[in-house]
Amino acid sequence: MTRPARALIDLDALRHNYALARRLHGGQVMAVLKANGYGHGSIACARALQGLADGYAVAFMQEASLLRMAGIDGPILVLEGAFSDDDAQEAARHDCALVVHSDVQIEMLQRLRDTRPLQVWLKVDSGMHRAGFTPAQVEWAHARLRALPAVGEIGFMTHFARADEPASDMTTAQVACFDAAVGALPGPRSLCNSAGIVGWSPARRDWGRAGIMLYGSDPGGMLPREGEDALRAVMTLQSEIFAVRTLPAGEPVGYGARDVTRRDTRVGLIAMGYADGYPRNAPAGTPVAVDGQLAPLFGRVSMDMMTVDLTDLPQAGVGSKVELWGAQVPVDRVAEAAGMISYELLCNVKRVAFSYVSSDAPVAAASAARGQHALA
Ligand SMILES: *Cc1c(COP(=O)(O)O)cnc(C)c1O
Repeated sequence: MTRPARALIDLDALRHNYALARRLHGGQVMAVLKANGYGHGSIACARALQGLADGYAVAFMQEASLLRMAGIDGPILVLEGAFSDDDAQEAARHDCALVVHSDVQIEMLQRLRDTRPLQVWLKVDSGMHRAGFTPAQVEWAHARLRALPAVGEIGFMTHFARADEPASDMTTAQVACFDAAVGALPGPRSLCNSAGIVGWSPARRDWGRAGIMLYGSDPGGMLPREGEDALRAVMTLQSEIFAVRTLPAGEPVGYGARDVTRRDTRVGLIAMGYADGYPRNAPAGTPVAVDGQLAPLFGRVSMDMMTVDLTDLPQAGVGSKVELWGAQVPVDRVAEAAGMISYELLCNVKRVAFSYVSSDAPVAAASAARGQHALA
């Protein structure tokens, strides 16, 4: 038998989540597929969204080229823009749009010759202070870009630092800062990440940029948990119990003897570890679904396996199906238990077998996605 650890990717759930993002935001929405589609396989996700998504976004040019070479057409925005003249050239060759956040990047476009005009998005630093032109520089940067033959349409974008916090007023301040900086300059606007799309209707403009919500995680916890407005988990990280032992009270389990039994305890061994992307620092009690019922993680997560307390699930045993996260155990719950965010968990999944399910096509994407995992 092959090792049962795998990531099952539900492309119908991805399409549902995209449609929800678009319905909430209005206008158009880019599907953010950076970091190999947040660990889900960017090519498979892009293909599943063809004909539905208004466009795509990735972090850097090589991620965009991978999609183009896989036959993905439609707009692709490179969110960090060009790192080099080669990147700018490749963007032109692959007809991708570039974010421009610094004068170094303007100079790259200045050196770009004999290409079709590129669409660019001028990034405004509206308060996050990570990347982007200051409000005072916007008009100047726009004028410089507009003068370049290699530059076509110029859009304006910014990024939120705290949109996942409903109680923070920083997002409102960032929207106001952006609006004042951009003024009446012509061109499309894009402000919202997932948290903005869900929680900040005044920030919704021409284009949303939906990332984590596409994969079923609601960063601010603001959406309903059930019904048409609920997100659906796209990845199910699953495995099986492959050994069980019973220990008396007072016995340690796993590295560091972190967790010690307090009663007669049936311990199930799961084929999943931190080398697969399950967080090593998940504490005892982190929920694991075993044959559809929740059981507490017990003992430190090792590289290739982890242990779960099955004492209260007497029917569970060798061969029982385990879900580490998915529809039964929200990835956000595991992330919270481990002091992490869902983004980190999803991006970290590796080594496990990936399989794709979709109602319309029994996906040829699996092999493409595997190729991509090799790249990651
Ligand atoms: C990653 C990213 C997004 C998507 O963010 P989510 O929180 O995953 O929706 C949007 N915009 C930019 C600039 C990004 O880098």
